[in-house]
Amino acid sequence: MPPAPPARPSLATPLHLIKGIGPRRAAALAQLGPKNVGQLVAWLPHRHERHEPLTPIALLVPGAIVTATGTVTATRVALRARTPRFQAVLVDDSGRLDLIWYNALYARESVRPGVRLRVTGKATKAPKGAGLQIANPQFALLPPPEPAGAIDDEPPPSSPTLVPSVPTPTWAPVYPAAASISSRHIAHCLRAALPMALPLIEDHFPPDFRALHGLPELRDAYASIHAPADEPAIAAATRRLAFDELFLLQLGMAIKRLHRLRDRPAPALPCTPTIDAKVRARIPFQLTPAQNRVIAEITADLAKPQPASRLIQGDVGSGKTVVALYAMLLAVAARRSAALMAPTEILAEQHHRTISAWLKGSSVRVGLLHASLPRAQIRDVRQRLAGGQIDLVIGTHSLIVARTAMPNLALAVIDEQHRFGVHQRAALRAITDGVPTTPHVLVMTATPIPRTLALTLFGDLDVSTIDALPPGRTPITTRVVPASQRTQVYGFVRARLEKGHRAFVVVPAIDAQPTTHFRDTSGAGHAAVGPTPPAEAAKPRSVHELAQELTDGPLAGVRVGVMHGRLPPAERQAAMDDFRSGRTRVLVATTVIEVGVDVPEASVIVIEDADRFGLAQLHQLRGRVGRGSLPSVCVLISPENDALSNDRLLTLAQTSDGFRVAEKDLELRGFGDFFGEKQSGSSHFRVVSFPRDGDLLQLARRAAQHWADQSPSLDQPRDALLRKRLLKLYGEWVRLGDIA
Ligand code: ADP
Ligand code: MG
Repeated sequence: MPPAPPARPSLATPLHLIKGIGPRRAAALAQLGPKNVGQLVAWLPHRHERHEPLTPIALLVPGAIVTATGTVTATRVALRARTPRFQAVLVDDSGRLDLIWYNALYARESVRPGVRLRVTGKATKAPKGAGLQIANPQFALLPPPEPAGAIDDEPPPSSPTLVPSVPTPTWAPVYPAAASISSRHIAHCLRAALPMALPLIEDHFPPDFRALHGLPELRDAYASIHAPADEPAIAAATRRLAFDELFLLQLGMAIKRLHRLRDRPAPALPCTPTIDAKVRARIPFQLTPAQNRVIAEITADLAKPQPASRLIQGDVGSGKTVVALYAMLLAVAARRSAALMAPTEILAEQHHRTISAWLKGSSVRVGLLHASLPRAQIRDVRQRLAGGQIDLVIGTHSLIVARTAMPNLALAVIDEQHRFGVHQRAALRAITDGVPTTPHVLVMTATPIPRTLALTLFGDLDVSTIDALPPGRTPITTRVVPASQRTQVYGFVRARLEKGHRAFVVVPAIDAQPTTHFRDTSGAGHAAVGPTPPAEAAKPRSVHELAQELTDGPLAGVRVGVMHGRLPPAERQAAMDDFRSGRTRVLVATTVIEVGVDVPEASVIVIEDADRFGLAQLHQLRGRVGRGSLPSVCVLISPENDALSNDRLLTLAQTSDGFRVAEKDLELRGFGDFFGEKQSGSSHFRVVSFPRDGDLLQLARRAAQHWADQSPSLDQPRDALLRKRLLKLYGEWVRLGDIA
């Protein structure tokens, strides 16, 4: 006997106390996740299955396609008839239906007297007698009726909100299940729990808010998602639940942002015409209108004593570095310091080189810091940072990992944000904990964040977009070439080299083991679906193998350098220097050159085993060429006869727009994989799906912003429930300490 349910049922009631669930199923559910009623109701189906309506046999209409179930009472084989046939009689409580299979005697193997059957087909008047028949019906054997009390036969509770009165057709929820408990059993548990649970579900939105945004009540949304009346009910429920997910995340971000603006002052970094002129004098080219617009946006931010938090988006090669430098020099002009953080040591070194060159002869003190520098040098730089003797430090994330003291820091720029996470951004702020002012933060991303996603992920940031490339760039031609034509490809490379150009060759691996892998979670894994590629193409080439192969063969006599992340810093530096200066004309590299590397004389990039890379990554790699005035070419070498991966690669040949590429990549890879779920905060998304919910995101974002403006501390009576749910879901992640 199960223990008696507690006097006052609540959403916290443990599942084993619910009549119809019991201890065994409660344990199985707990293994999967839900432990109490509230958690079970929040266990959402990942899809709904359409079930055709069943009509009692007596009510079947001749001429219609019908579905009926019943028990077979008799069968007959007529082998000698002109057309051999197999006949069966199906009965239910209301009547009898004749089934005939012509030339399909296989049916008699399974259709035997006593079995239960579901049949679908066109009902016609039987030639003899008054009944109906179906010729050549589709059929499925049904399990024998289970003894009374077996869970699957238990009728659903007859609450009018739960059971549709006209089931045409019905929609059955399909739940994320496990070996311990099936979707059907979960559905059963929900049927048992819903009648008591639904009245207990309180809505965190008031009726006027719901009416304004066309949202059903939360209780109704849960009722419909678990026991939908029809398709529109599923859609409305899905929309409500997706809205809630988006709204809560956006609300957390909006509040965080408001508090940041209100509570922690930042040093004001004003820009005067004199400062502007001095900064521009350092830049060796005219800034584009797009760069100037973004600089104006940043300048306005930095002039205020509130910590700026701005995302600078701009496609590969749009010239973000110089924009960052402009901002950093504003900090220096205010006698404060600035930090530029890059995701790779190679990129940090390059930024250091470029910026030092631009600032040559000025009084700005520039420093470089990353983990591969000699210990003495690291110690020296950190000491000078702590003493405020460096104005502008360029480094990797070791800047924050080592919690380098930078008491004078007024601005931190994070380059290639998509390589970092939200946590690192937060950690960066933490460096200056204890310092009376908070630094301004600019994050830059060499694309590709689809616009809608940028809002989800960086809802706490303002966004500026550099939407044009500097003049004089010639578009990059992208070609997808089968591996069999590699000889021609390197012939072409050789011709380019003879004209004085330089070339990148990118491979997925340093040695035998691939270092980079494109994970395709779309389920349409090209490697799995396509025909097996030839053995030669199956093994990815390594940096060293290929460099050898090229100098032995098609590029004999050409000086070829190699570059990868495991080279000691000095060799890496030398390899980069040699390629930049032209001492080596070809650089065979891994994806360490993916971000930022800037060598304008390079006009060709060949990407071996291109199918192993993600599209966004290929777009980044492609951005290594086309940086000067030379007409540039990107060659993607693809496996033979693999239509799927060739199709994917052709997307790149068709567009040079990083945003489009990113959207396609997202479509192929899915949300979580694109950014890493933990970073994006999307791990709480059960219902939200992109691109479907792009518009809903905009709506939720505006609504959340408005809500936060009205009640920045969520301390009004109508906030109570919302605040509780927000803290539960995102309290830790968005660090809402200040409203907790
Ligand atoms: P990304 O946005 O990819 O970081 P970079 O900042 O590396 O781009 O700039 C790409 C190249 O374009 C660099 O060589 C840079 O010096 C050059 N560049 C940037 N802005 C301009 C401009 N306004 N005119 C000419 N060249 C520019
Ligand atoms: Mg860059």
